Amino acid sequence: MATPVFFLRDDDVFACDALFTELHRFFIKRDLSVVYGVIPAKMKKPFITQMLAFKKKHPYAFDIAQHGFCHADHHRRGKDKYEFGPGRSYRAQAADIQKGWSLLEKAFGAHAVPAFLPPYDLFDQNTLKAVDAAGLKIMSCGAPARRAGKKFVWLPVDFMMNDFKADGTPVALDAKTMLARLTARLPRASVTGIGFHHYAIRTKKEMAEAKKFFNALTVLRDRKEIKLVLLSDILRMKAFSCSRAN
Ligand SMILES: [Zn+2]
Repeated sequence: MATPVFFLRDDDVFACDALFTELHRFFIKRDLSVVYGVIPAKMKKPFITQMLAFKKKHPYAFDIAQHGFCHADHHRRGKDKYEFGPGRSYRAQAADIQKGWSLLEKAFGAHAVPAFLPPYDLFDQNTLKAVDAAGLKIMSCGAPARRAGKKFVWLPVDFMMNDFKADGTPVALDAKTMLARLTARLPRASVTGIGFHHYAIRTKKEMAEAKKFFNALTVLRDRKEIKLVLLSDILRMKAFSCSRAN
């Protein structure tokens, strides 16, 4: 059986606060590659400067990918939250996706990875069309969708390190639960994301559990039971077969 391939994906990144920086340093120390889902319209100059400094030091250690535009919520009462999806025209979605990508490119140049991660994990056919039109090469999202004729590579995230309350607030899990969920995924060979939100880690105990889980990932990786990649690695692999992902 082929080795399962995972990518770590931390969403809602737009500030290098103490929590983000602590985890970033931890990942560097453990040689753990992470995809940061950055919200383009929320970035401020100090964040851009700090991320560029991190890139200068460790250019291949992490990805900067596009997590929506401003993480707005356009949902109507009683429906699921979304920034991109039903209720928004193709034109509106395409404009936001393009604006977000331009901001990332302007800030990070070649360090920006052309991958789209829709906030709230929602989208519709117009979103997919707009992702293609913007020239983004990867779409990473939970649910599958009709993608016939689309050029981007589809990379799902079907493992979350946190649960969510009904109102969408993330809830941290202990390392045992996270590992049990990951192990349940191991027999399937495909490229899939391990999603998390650094800001969901609120207490020392939750941080210890998260680090325990990340350390367990390094053990599995070093034993060659799993592979950990970045989205940029996937784009670099010319012979990459996306038959399972597509
Ligand atoms: Zn988000």
